[in-house]
Amino acid sequence: MENEDKTLCPHCGAKMKLWKPPLESSWGINSQYVCFNDECSYYVKGWVRMKDKYNQKASYRHRLNPETNESGPLPVWSAMAHRDRIVEEREETE
Ligand SMILES: [Zn+2]
Repeated sequence: MENEDKTLCPHCGAKMKLWKPPLESSWGINSQYVCFNDECSYYVKGWVRMKDKYNQKASYRHRLNPETNESGPLPVWSAMAHRDRIVEEREETE
């Protein structure tokens, strides 16, 4: 077996994107891995769950802190939420 790739979402298998948390957030200053796949089961089910449970139009995406390996939900209020903070991956050519 090959080593498990931590940057792949455990819910949908998509490659997660590096995401920079806002300064006022509780996630610290280090970039996090977040699944921005709109077809991700975790994210899709989140909309239903939040509507059923809290009657709110919200969901969450899978998030992983690469420093601590701690993962959890990143709350979102729309499909576009948080996308402006995605860190473009740099080419590793240097
Ligand atoms: Zn996913």
